[in-house]
Amino acid sequence: MNTQTGILTVISGFSGAGKGTIVKRLLEKYPQNYALSISATTRAPRPGEQDGREYFFRSVDCFEKMIEEDELLEYAKYVSNYYGTPKAYVQEQLAAGKDVILEIEIQGALKIKEKYPDTLLLFVTPPSFEELERRLVGRGTETPEVIHERLCRADEECMGIEAYDYLIVNDELEACVDQVHSILQNEHTKISRKELFIMEIKTALTNYAKGE
Ligand code: ADP
Ligand code: 5GP
Repeated sequence: MNTQTGILTVISGFSGAGKGTIVKRLLEKYPQNYALSISATTRAPRPGEQDGREYFFRSVDCFEKMIEEDELLEYAKYVSNYYGTPKAYVQEQLAAGKDVILEIEIQGALKIKEKYPDTLLLFVTPPSFEELERRLVGRGTETPEVIHERLCRADEECMGIEAYDYLIVNDELEACVDQVHSILQNEHTKISRKELFIMEIKTALTNYAKGE
């Protein structure tokens, strides 16, 4: 995958931390820079969610066919449902120079990092546990049982935080969005992501020095 152009970026974090909200705002503010990968899932749409916008909502059979046909970059099970990243769109957008954002949970994030080691991993957390619970309840989209399952899952996800490159504390939304944007902008200046540019300028300088 050509990461000389776009940077493959994973945003993970506890359910209710504000990942979706951050990513939506990031795309509104900087539409030229970023492309959001739309995942496939077997979970039911929440009120207001549309097929092809928030997710591609698929049956279990259809999802398993996508797995068989190698159409997914990664997939995982999260609280009894499948979630996965369709491969083609991510590859196209990276090649077009966009930083592609995958908003995925931790198992998927680690699989992506293993396959593509130059993936940038960001982990989003609210400022406290109490605020996490407040946001998850306040969103009003899950039953108390599902909220409980998601908070228990958050406890497991805590174990994997050290694998991530940056911890983003989502306290004030706009500040948080700007922080994510600056991390990505800085990431583009890393020497390891500039190999092509460095090679070109080295060749030009060598040619000059040789008098060509
Ligand atoms: P996630 O995608 O991580 O599950 P959401 O983006 O759905 O989380 O956010 C969960 C709830 O928290 C939503 O109701 C959202 O409006 C709210 N929220 C997100 N970010 C903030 C913030 N910085 N301050 C207060 N509430 C927030
Ligand atoms: P939700 O049901 O709240 O939309 O998402 C549940 C969890 O699944 C979140 O942590 C979200 O980041 C994750 N998720 C969404 N899409 C994908 C995906 O394509 N792959 C993986 N591994 N996780 C995903």
